[in-house]
Amino acid sequence: MNNKLLVLGTMAYDAIETPFGKTGRILGGCATYIGLAASHFKTQCGLISIIGGDFESKYLDLLKEKKLDLKGVVQLKEEKTFFWSGKYHNDLNTRTTLETQLNVLTKFNPEVPSKFKDARVVLLGNLDPNIQLEVLNQMTTRPDLVIMDTMNFWIESYREKLDQLIARVDVISINDEEARQLTQKYSLVEAAQELMAQGPRYVIIKKGEHGALLFHGNDIFCTPGLPLEEVFDPTGAGDSFIGGFTAFLVQQEKISFEEMKTAIIIGSAMASFTVQEFGTKALENLSYGELVKRVQSFKSLTEFEIELI
Ligand code: AMP
Repeated sequence: MNNKLLVLGTMAYDAIETPFGKTGRILGGCATYIGLAASHFKTQCGLISIIGGDFESKYLDLLKEKKLDLKGVVQLKEEKTFFWSGKYHNDLNTRTTLETQLNVLTKFNPEVPSKFKDARVVLLGNLDPNIQLEVLNQMTTRPDLVIMDTMNFWIESYREKLDQLIARVDVISINDEEARQLTQKYSLVEAAQELMAQGPRYVIIKKGEHGALLFHGNDIFCTPGLPLEEVFDPTGAGDSFIGGFTAFLVQQEKISFEEMKTAIIIGSAMASFTVQEFGTKALENLSYGELVKRVQSFKSLTEFEIELI
């Protein structure tokens, strides 16, 4: 058993608008959020991504400082970094994508560094399913766990490839809207069952501030969202969630539904930090002690004794 975690995803520039303010171009991308979340755990985490010449070296330094392995990150000097801008509505649970500039992503031929070809866990972050499949195909040993994420952008135009990928993963993590879009089922229980029938043994459905559900066979576990006084920017919450979830699992000797129950609490705690500041700031500054305290808050929030006579 090794503690290697391979993460595929975007390293991006984002521009975000929420009811509390607007950012200029800031650091974003799912691999960035996942990597920063994973850096709080004892794993060897390698990122696979692509960036343009405009990607500032201070951000690469930040990721290196967090002990993330960047051998799988390619920089094309002549190209521009992937750019995404989004606007959140008043409830902060829904957002509209204002612009997606794929830029350098259209030139992406991922290459898994030899060190990570036997990674115990592979996390295929939200990206073109062709690229997600390509990375999976380059693994020399079948990972103990393959986890995937996706979003509406890819569901709408890459459905066939996406279905091929879904059939090959152990865990799919998506939000409620995407689960409904993928399965055409309104009931999330039915949607999860339909997804499991396609291949994954585990389905995670994220419900924004309302928490997340974990499905496995007939078992269901749920975590609430932590009621927070201040939420500034939900960007990256899903990625921080799955980054924390996955990195915790890499540390476990056995990976089953039981360990995943703990992992989704940890993922939720991680996400609860991300939303409290714009961009990646909260994850960058988080200490392990603060994370532990917040996991305790989740426990207190849901723990109760009941005796029915
Ligand atoms: P989340 O809020 O967790 O769903 O993820 C937000 C991050 O996803 C942002 O930092 C974006 O840069 C990135 N992103 C947005 N659209 C895409 C896309 N189509 N493919 C990959 N990453 C994306």
